[in-house]
Amino acid sequence: MTHSTTPISGGTGILYIVATPIGNLKDITRRAVEILESVDWVAAEDTRHTRPLLQYLGMNKTLISLHEHNEKSRSEQLLEKLRNGENGALVSDAGTPLINDPGYYLVKLLREKGVDVVPIPGPSAVITALCAAGLPTARFSYEGFLPAKSNKRLAVLATLVDDVRTLVFYESPHRVITSLADFQTAFGSDREMVVARELTKKFEQFVSGTIAEVVEYFTENQDKVRGEFVFMLSGAEEKEVVELSTMDELILTLLKQNLPVKQISEIVADYAGIKKKPIYNRVLELKKE
Ligand code: SAM
Repeated sequence: MTHSTTPISGGTGILYIVATPIGNLKDITRRAVEILESVDWVAAEDTRHTRPLLQYLGMNKTLISLHEHNEKSRSEQLLEKLRNGENGALVSDAGTPLINDPGYYLVKLLREKGVDVVPIPGPSAVITALCAAGLPTARFSYEGFLPAKSNKRLAVLATLVDDVRTLVFYESPHRVITSLADFQTAFGSDREMVVARELTKKFEQFVSGTIAEVVEYFTENQDKVRGEFVFMLSGAEEKEVVELSTMDELILTLLKQNLPVKQISEIVADYAGIKKKPIYNRVLELKKE
């Protein structure tokens, strides 16, 4: 059964999922401020981290900790509070809760129990990085953090080699160099990559180039291997999306019309949504037959 996304709280409170800044406090939205002001309590990943934010906003709120070690028991408690008509907010240390941050168990539980969960959108490092990287954004895959151990990391990266979508990863500063080396092993040297660092902060930086160039940059500029990182990788080249036989039929039809090989390649490449070069070769092959 699906639940309404429009709050219909008949006596039950609402949990707001509130995005907070990822480095620049000015990035808090007006709506986030209004909601934080209005709620009875704020569930936070780390209350020591959230208290200064609320102080900056001039608020003194009841803070309740909700982290990966107490999420299940705490979620049951928060459910009761909401059922008693209280309204609450969930925030994480930075960015959008649930995006590599706690909250999934709570939101799932509340949805199952028919309690309204309302998103208050705002910053998230994945979107912030992607929108300014200069890589294709029509399709992307957010992969979160890679495993800490190189072998496991390589195994995960191997599953992504043929993925045509832009790939986005979070990485911790002390794994940047070893992780980049694994990217080179898995994807080769030439794939286009962008590393975004310290987004929205004073030393924000985008480093782009081939994987080999990015590896070289960070190897030679160890002082830049600090802060918070997002890795983005251009997707694999599109493979043939049209059945070969269909494509061959199209090429043969066009050959019968005595069109030049180059033009046929262009037409078929356009139709199939793939690069011209492999089609060009195929047209030559079929022409000889
Ligand atoms: N919930 C957050 C979000 O919406 O982006 C992500 C939390 S995750 C535990 C923390 C990771 O996000 C960092 O290790 C880094 O990879 C990325 N990140 C967070 N803030 C960032 C920033 N200002 N610049 C670059 N990366 C950032």
